Amino acid sequence: MKAVLIRKHGGLEALEIADLPKPKADVGQVLLRVKAAGVNHLDTWVRRGMPGVTLPLPMILGSDAAGVIEEVGPGVLGLKPGDRVFVSAGYSCMRCVECCSGWEPLCKDYGLLGEHTNGTQAEFIALAAANVLPLPDGLSFEEGAAFPLVFLTAWHMLVGRAQVRMGDDVLVQAGGGGVGTAAIQIARLHGARVIATVGSDDKVPRVKELGADEAINYRTTDFLEEVRRLTRKRGVDVVIDSVGQETWDRSLKSLARGGRLVTCGATSGYQGSTDLRFVFSKGLSILGSTMGSRAELLRVARLVGERKLKPVIDRVLPLEKVADAHRAMAERALFGKIILRP
Ligand SMILES: [Zn+2]
Repeated sequence: MKAVLIRKHGGLEALEIADLPKPKADVGQVLLRVKAAGVNHLDTWVRRGMPGVTLPLPMILGSDAAGVIEEVGPGVLGLKPGDRVFVSAGYSCMRCVECCSGWEPLCKDYGLLGEHTNGTQAEFIALAAANVLPLPDGLSFEEGAAFPLVFLTAWHMLVGRAQVRMGDDVLVQAGGGGVGTAAIQIARLHGARVIATVGSDDKVPRVKELGADEAINYRTTDFLEEVRRLTRKRGVDVVIDSVGQETWDRSLKSLARGGRLVTCGATSGYQGSTDLRFVFSKGLSILGSTMGSRAELLRVARLVGERKLKPVIDRVLPLEKVADAHRAMAERALFGKIILRP
């Protein structure tokens, strides 16, 4: 079977379309025939390697997928061949205080398919039965592979961490990205006014269509000045930032008194400078966030199934074109998610 494999860290040349033996469903596992697999920024970090992090290589990339159960291993209850499911990429011990409090990503044994073990970008994957959830009726496989990671991330940032509520002003950085397109919709669903930044004028109408009230092209306009103008110098209550270094300082300065900045990643670099005077004098909160709980994912899946949240798909490519997807993400030349079809 075909799979996107990396044997060592590197550039696009590190992406190999390998021919691997078809896996089998072991005890407690299911064998999934993958119909669609999502591509995330995480894949590019895993490909390049992260400072101070040792990943088990070779590894199949990918954390999102949807498909049909082909085979059920011994000891698996409640699932059968033919079931339509999507992948929930996180796994943890489910016994510790963090796991039992709905904070699975903080479990010391937390891991992700496609980061700590083989991922989803293959024709077949064998995975623990706990890592598949029913695909909501009416959702295509491509949609099922587009929403889990980014909607869960955005949900946990806005709802779990920032506790967004009716009447908040929310600034979503990189509104055209995977997490951005999800965050715009989730903030809007909670009654917030949404200001999104985008990297090109053609993305302005597209983020507005998703529910953004205002859109700022950060390449042609200083977003901080624009936020001040739009909020009559008050600032926003919440900033959703996955960009990091490039935006950090001005994201903090965009906050109103009592505002919350939530970070879930740093696509532009890890080093942000923080003027602490703003943090204490304005009572700001800086909140870290990574992934979310299984309970949050089930809630997101229900809302996606009810069409209250809509996965945004930029394009669907054959698995062999995975390098094109990585290139588009590096150049930010996409809107929403790229999906691979094995
Ligand atoms: Zn745990």
